[in-house]
Formats: sequence, structure tokens, C-alpha cells
Amino acid sequence: MLLLLLLALAVPAAAQAYLDTGSRRVPAPVRAEPRDEPAPAPIRWRDSRALGTPSAGRLLRGVRLPSVGARYFTWDPLLHRSPNRAWRRHGTDEVVRLVLRIVRDYARANPRAPRVGIGDLSRPRGGYFGPRHVSHQNGLDVDVYYPRLDRKERPPKRPAQIDRRLAQDLVDRFVRAGAERVFVGPGTALRGPPRVVQVLADHDNHLHVRIRAQ
Ligand SMILES: [Zn+2]
Repeated sequence: MLLLLLLALAVPAAAQAYLDTGSRRVPAPVRAEPRDEPAPAPIRWRDSRALGTPSAGRLLRGVRLPSVGARYFTWDPLLHRSPNRAWRRHGTDEVVRLVLRIVRDYARANPRAPRVGIGDLSRPRGGYFGPRHVSHQNGLDVDVYYPRLDRKERPPKRPAQIDRRLAQDLVDRFVRAGAERVFVGPGTALRGPPRVVQVLADHDNHLHVRIRAQ
């Protein structure tokens, strides 16, 4: 008995933990998550302010969109990979809330659709977000990739790869939600009220939504 007690005391803590579970060793789950964020961080809601204009502005108390969700993935347009880097995913609380709501409603209405690809929003405190973006400066702009016919979770390379029905559904949802502007590419044939939905070069793989400042 004394020998057993001495043995137990001699076993290091880690080994003891292993002994406690006997031979049932369960491998740790392996998750493919971004290197700078071990798991999608919960949203830290704050009362944000969009200052200035989308092309010359700042973002106060921005909210970061999580790197991935059940109904969306994020995409880094410079590194061409998912997820997008954390510092490129900040918007006003209204914008993050709206994106999550639209993505949820869209997924419910289109259960077979691939997850929605979300691109750049703004930097944590807004400001210049170039050289690819003129705007995206005050947390009100979001890039959303058109869904692909082959359902791959990546931006379409050509307009022919766009699932137009699903892409139009996304456009319609942002229009109904009161977006100030939705820019679509000249090759997409996507439509909407001309006051809101406007054709702009370099938007054949994503739409750009601008939310109205509150
Ligand atoms: Zn954009």
C-alpha cells in the first residue's frame, strides 16, 4: 500500500491526467482556422460611429465581423485565400448586424446555396484602405462575392461562373434593407432600382454595398 502511494506521488501531473482517462485517448479536434485567430472570436458589439464620408472618413468603435460563420466565409482579395485578415473586417455595428441578418435570411430562403463570401469592410479605425479601394473608409462599405454556379467558396473568375439567380437575390435583399448603393459589374446583368443599383467597372466578381449612415 505504501509502495502504491509513493508511486502515485511520483507520477507527474500530465501523466496522471492520462492515467485518469485510462486507455481511451481522444485526439484533439483539428480546426482549420486563421493563424492570427485560433477560433472565430465572439462579436464585441459596440455603439459605432461612421465619421466623414466613405472616401474620406474614419470609423469610431468599429465592430469586427468574425472570420467565418455557419452561413458565410470571408475572403482576402489580396492573398486570395479564406479567411480574410482580421484588420480588414471592421464595420459599424449596424453594418455587421445587417450583413449577418441578410446572410441568415438568404441561407434560409436558399438552403442549397453555398455560403456567402464576404470580402473587405474597413480597417479597425477606418481611414485609407488602398490602393484597391477608394472608399471603405468609414465602416459603411462591404464587398460581397457573387455565388458561383459550381458552388465553390471562392470569387468567380468570370461573369459566366456567377449564379445569377442567387446573386440577384442577394442584390434584392440589400436593396430592400435600405442600402444607399449597390455597385455591380458591367458583365453581371444584375438589376435593381437605378437610384441604388449602379454598374461600376471592376465589380464583375463582387458587389459592393454601401449602407446609409444612421
Ligand atoms: Zn468595395
